[in-house]
Amino acid sequence: MSTYRGDADLNWHPQTAFGGAKAYLLFSSSRQVLVGPKGPVLTDWDCEISQGAKTLVGHVGERDIYVGQWVKDVPTGYAWCDLRATIRSSADDHEFIALSAGIQRLEFLLDHRFCGRCGHATELNSGDSGIRCGDTACGAIHYPRIAPSVIVLVTRDDQCLLARSPRFEPGMYSTLAGFIEAGESAEHAIRREIREEVGIEVKNPTYFGTQSWPFKHSLMMGYFAEYAGGNIEVDGIEIVDANWYRRDALPQLPLSASISRALIETWLASGNH
Ligand SMILES: [Zn+2]
Repeated sequence: MSTYRGDADLNWHPQTAFGGAKAYLLFSSSRQVLVGPKGPVLTDWDCEISQGAKTLVGHVGERDIYVGQWVKDVPTGYAWCDLRATIRSSADDHEFIALSAGIQRLEFLLDHRFCGRCGHATELNSGDSGIRCGDTACGAIHYPRIAPSVIVLVTRDDQCLLARSPRFEPGMYSTLAGFIEAGESAEHAIRREIREEVGIEVKNPTYFGTQSWPFKHSLMMGYFAEYAGGNIEVDGIEIVDANWYRRDALPQLPLSASISRALIETWLASGNH
């Protein structure tokens, strides 16, 4: 099972093939991943990939990873699995980063088959992760979209603030999170998002770490922050419930691969954050 560790020491080289063993990640049009007898990274795949081409994602562990879309029948011994459930239940650290990068690479290519500026068909840009407009008079180059988001564990004395989104599985609570708007710093986004979602003020944001997160193409920037005032008042849209929790009375927490879980675990281990 994958556990957040900042990924800094992973043998991961995006957009690079070292000529090692090839492995494939195959997704459906609804973000399901094809899982084989050995897991989601298919090491002995010999079927023709039907759509999305065999596109290089990068090298991780000892494997060159390619991604594609599979639209034919599922072969014997294989099954479609929910991406989030696969990350939660079975993916190790190498598989997690391959899945995260792979789905983002595939969706970028499928969403940019035509130039958004002039409508001409695009092609892979040589030398980097972009795609280039096939019309030389236009020449626009488009790059994968990565959306910076803040994710924050707010603490107050010996309690932390955890909240529920209506999208969460039943019973689960997590840290607060939101996208950084254009023109905004991470620290400003922290204060604004928390004020909007639960109606409280925070202070002293402290950087923790970052994580690429494929739902859908976020760079999660993790922070701790301290309560500074106000009463919890959820917005009822992004957040439907939020409460202060003591260490010995926590609700169901997010999956171990997430930076959200790492923030909570770090606070738990600190004893007095
Ligand atoms: Zn163009």
